Amino acid sequence: MTVQVDIQTFPLFINGKWEPAAGGQTFDVFNPANGDLAARAAKATAQDVDKAVQAARDAFDKTDWKEMPPKDRAKVLNAIAHGIATNAQELAFLETISSGGTIRRVASSDILQMVDLFNTMAKFVQTYPFSETLPSPPFPGPAHNFIWREPIGVCAAITPWNMPMLIATWKIAPALAMGNTIVIKPASYTPLSTLKLAEIISQFVPPGVINVITGPGAEVGEALVRHPKVDKVAFTGSTEVGRSIMALASGTIKNTTLELGGKSPNIILEDADLDIVIPGSLFGVFLHSGQLCESGTRLFVPDKLHDEIVERLVALAKTLKPGNPLDPDTTIGPVISKRQKETILSYIESGKQEGATLVCGGNEVAVPGCEGGHFIEPTIFTDVTNDMKIAQEEIFGPVLSVIRYSDVEEAIAMANDSIYGLAAGVWTRDVNKAYDVARKLQAGVIWINDWHMLRNDAPFGGYKQSGIGREMGKHSLDAYTQLKHVHTSMVPELHKRSWYQILFSNSDKS
Ligand code: NAD
Repeated sequence: MTVQVDIQTFPLFINGKWEPAAGGQTFDVFNPANGDLAARAAKATAQDVDKAVQAARDAFDKTDWKEMPPKDRAKVLNAIAHGIATNAQELAFLETISSGGTIRRVASSDILQMVDLFNTMAKFVQTYPFSETLPSPPFPGPAHNFIWREPIGVCAAITPWNMPMLIATWKIAPALAMGNTIVIKPASYTPLSTLKLAEIISQFVPPGVINVITGPGAEVGEALVRHPKVDKVAFTGSTEVGRSIMALASGTIKNTTLELGGKSPNIILEDADLDIVIPGSLFGVFLHSGQLCESGTRLFVPDKLHDEIVERLVALAKTLKPGNPLDPDTTIGPVISKRQKETILSYIESGKQEGATLVCGGNEVAVPGCEGGHFIEPTIFTDVTNDMKIAQEEIFGPVLSVIRYSDVEEAIAMANDSIYGLAAGVWTRDVNKAYDVARKLQAGVIWINDWHMLRNDAPFGGYKQSGIGREMGKHSLDAYTQLKHVHTSMVPELHKRSWYQILFSNSDKS
């Protein structure tokens, strides 16, 4: 018997309404766990980009959204948090069937972080210094001076496929908190949860404040970045695409935030507690099958402990079994696509070719009931040197490179020898040593005896080619704000305005 499954088609979300793409075309969204068609989404064109940007422009220019008092705005943000919590099940389902993130993680950690982010921004916005008064200077004369912090305008958010929903909120929450409007372009593998999220948020904001267009990055993404009515671009994705976004945004001198790739170093010191280090390091690299920008993919291990650490890492990694991400017991899901699986396998091959030793995994794996899915075994290489391709390039898959060191300064030098600088970590029982290493590591976040611990009240972003700017934390509000200096003269008498004499001689004065 053939079972007929209804495949839902997701239109674009523009100006508070679902809209088909102007050209009427759609594209397929596949479930990476089994290769089945999960849904279809509208394939936008430049005409749709224009429409979405115009809706966002009008909502910014023609409504009082940007002038909403912080107390009321906080209520909106709290209501959005509540809306996300109420729709958690559907959001988590859509995220899992398109990104392959385990329901175990998405339905708990991601949803909770999203809810907490909007509530955190609601708190921040009430104490944000929207207007700051400067002291009145004795010279050149009495004056009132303010610094006003104002929204930037129409923001474009371009997001990746690995954690599409959570990463979209890192942009939406601060943008709305500051009174901006937004057009989001999710990755084509994973548009579903972002579209649903926009529908939820739209219940609490005027039409046009939040819009989503879906379609190929090279067409709709570029059209959005180039668009003259877009004031800011917030991009999360690969460093390669980040470079072209930066170049494209330069045409109209757009304010740009870039959250890019990583190759994060994880240093184990000799005194570390191995009972925590072993699961901690594997948590750092294999969560979401290694498809996290901040994954700890380079593990620096002291010579003295090398063999013991490797033996224990391998024993524990072998207990991690990829499975169906919709099963709440599954802790490791698939990688996003056949193409990504092949890229990861080709990196594994290059590790072997360059002389690294494969001590765990290294193969694709079949998961019963998920035929057609893209699964890879947790993989560990030893005898890796820091100049190998697997130690320098972002693989974005479940591959750990173990690199030996004899001296901590040597480990720090290798850790910093990378174009990236997103995250880094150190494991030790000695807090003074930990801070010393932390100071020397070139990365935007340092974890001591832990990994992946991002907070909604702390900034996240990269050093070096891992990006520009920060998301989350109070700092993310600054990223969606522009500064205005307002000067009011308190000197009504012309003859007291001595500074005018810079231009006018005494005889010129009327
Ligand atoms: P990607 O760079 O291929 O695509 C990201 C987004 O950009 C997608 O929406 C895509 O459609 C769009 N895009 C592609 N080409 C474009 C173009 N020419 N103009 C405009 N938009 C374009 O990245 P990905 O494969 O979706 O995600 C994986 C990458 O994201 C990894 O490098 C990872 O490290 C990075 N990432 C970084 C962070 C962070 O916070 N630093 C978080 C998650 C992922």
